[in-house]
Amino acid sequence: MPRYDFRCRSCGATFELNRPMARANDPAVCPEGHPDTVKLLSAVAVTGATASAPAGGGGGGGGCCGGGCCG
Ligand SMILES: [Zn+2]
Repeated sequence: MPRYDFRCRSCGATFELNRPMARANDPAVCPEGHPDTVKLLSAVAVTGATASAPAGGGGGGGGCCGGGCCG
């Protein structure tokens, strides 16, 4: 399951959440309880998820998945 880094804009704390890609864009709440957070575009440590990636299919590029448009 990919790990996402978030940063709280209220207190400046950064925290990590493990969540499915389908919920990558769900709002995250700071450990301190602040709802005003932003998702950081850091290097996501994907462990065990590469097996589902197509290896050179020949049609369509990547970069779409994760935004919810790939169904
Ligand atoms: Zn906070």
